[in-house]
Amino acid sequence: MNRSEFLSTALGLFAFSNIDAKPLRNFDLLLLIGKGNPQMVGNSHPMLPEVAIALKKMTQAAENEGIQIKVVSAYRSYDRQKAIWNKKFSRFEKQGLKGMDIVNQIIKYSTIPGTSRHHWGTEIDIIDGSQSAEGDLLLKEKFHGNGPYNKLRTWMETNANNFGFIKPYTQDPERKGFLYEPWHYSYANLSKPMLKAYIDQDAIALIKDNDLLGAELLDSKFINTYLKNHVLGIDSDLL
Ligand SMILES: [Zn+2]
Repeated sequence: MNRSEFLSTALGLFAFSNIDAKPLRNFDLLLLIGKGNPQMVGNSHPMLPEVAIALKKMTQAAENEGIQIKVVSAYRSYDRQKAIWNKKFSRFEKQGLKGMDIVNQIIKYSTIPGTSRHHWGTEIDIIDGSQSAEGDLLLKEKFHGNGPYNKLRTWMETNANNFGFIKPYTQDPERKGFLYEPWHYSYANLSKPMLKAYIDQDAIALIKDNDLLGAELLDSKFINTYLKNHVLGIDSDLL
């Protein structure tokens, strides 16, 4: 399978403006919101084949430094994200929060289903498998100071770029949206054009879902702000 065929298969529609021009990638809208039928590789944590190849190279390089890059989350479907959202919504409601306070609490770290970068098969959440750790693994403290994943974080900050991976949710205080996530990396070669397609094709307009807890709170004014601050609130190298 050549590169064009691969992309066509993995990423949906494919169009050529003319035979010599660089192909225009028209990403399948359903895939962008986690409702497509993407061809991913890997059983427990699926991702697009191109991402898996780059990750393998990066994992081997890290291994030479005694770091074991271990993926704990990659592709996530719309339904999976919806289950996460509804679970958190119920939990915060039981804790006494109401209305937008619940939504604002969830979107510190979790996305509205249909807006997750994890839908694309280009994103990975990673830890250092050579370290033992307890409790919640994806906490900032575990990636800094004496935390078990501090060495992984510093190695990634120096080297991830060379393998095509960029951290979207940086520690930059000017950045809005999701809080800092030192564990989350994005394969830029694919996620950049996918984000562009997501915006150009107004994919976010497709996410209305009455079964989502708090759906009535997500009006168009809120969604516009969320798009600007959360979906686009990422490292500028990924825009
Ligand atoms: Zn993530």
